[in-house]
Amino acid sequence: MPLQREPTWQADVHPSKILKMVYRTDKRNRLFWELAADYKKNCAKTETMVACPLCLTEYNLANVAELTREHIVPSKLGGRSETLTCRKCNNNQGSYLDSHLINLMKSLDAFEGAGPIRTSVISDKGKITAELLLGAGTPDEPIAIQIVGQASNMGAVENLRSIMCDGATLKLKMKFPFIPERYVRAAFRAAFLSVFKVEGYEYALSLGAEQVRNMLGTATPVLKNVVMEAFPERDPGTDLLVMPASFTDIGEYYAVLLRLETKRTRFISVFLPGKHGRDWTALEALYHQAPRLRLETTPGGSNSKLYIRFGCSPMVRFQKGLQDRFIPASHRSLKVD
Ligand SMILES: [Zn+2]
Repeated sequence: MPLQREPTWQADVHPSKILKMVYRTDKRNRLFWELAADYKKNCAKTETMVACPLCLTEYNLANVAELTREHIVPSKLGGRSETLTCRKCNNNQGSYLDSHLINLMKSLDAFEGAGPIRTSVISDKGKITAELLLGAGTPDEPIAIQIVGQASNMGAVENLRSIMCDGATLKLKMKFPFIPERYVRAAFRAAFLSVFKVEGYEYALSLGAEQVRNMLGTATPVLKNVVMEAFPERDPGTDLLVMPASFTDIGEYYAVLLRLETKRTRFISVFLPGKHGRDWTALEALYHQAPRLRLETTPGGSNSKLYIRFGCSPMVRFQKGLQDRFIPASHRSLKVD
């Protein structure tokens, strides 16, 4: 085989294989037809059309290639449910925001000893990049550091080896690659697309949806307290669960449960305004009731009730992880910001 060229091969393929390929590429079309039927119902359009739920730009069959299948919960977090969004919204917002949600969850894994933390060893001899692996148990358990050879100055690594002895102190700088504000927007986006998946354009074209869309842009300050950890009493068997509900003093809203899988499985809940929209800040009041708040729902395809408890923001768990793992017990009264 020539070394300088990409290998090519010609083969005869059995029709059954091709049928399978047709099915795969058709998934977008199937979603298109589903959404088009719903759009027609809500907008009384004569043409077969859909609108991107995130920017409301309309697309017809001729430009279906501008639409992309998007995982509502990022696939890197085990998400399977899909909807259609336009290429621009998927590429810009999707990758811009989702990595922050993914990396927050990976940081929580790290505090539980289930994943690495990107670290650099502070040395005056040159750059040393490492991965820090915490034990799963007590804070006193040894911490492992893996030097990433390719990304480190070998002279500095050699120097580090020579000074390593009992009583030596390493200065580490840890990097947690997420921006809290963007993780909140990523959670809103996933919750918004979840409600769209379940309620369709009746929701996407509503006042409440408009409020969420505005919040997804960067101009509106984010309401971080409507994203909380959630603790369903059992796995709901789906990556997203949309629960329309109402509170006497707050009115109608949606509670969306998202299952996020990394090395661990966690759940977060996001509270979004109902279709009629409202002063969204009122939803933040829920946060203060969170430990006492409990929702009861019956997931589709199930006969039995599911109870969900709520907790603090995942950022609180992150800060606690940082504090528990790196601040000696005798200094625990220190506050980590
Ligand atoms: Zn769009």
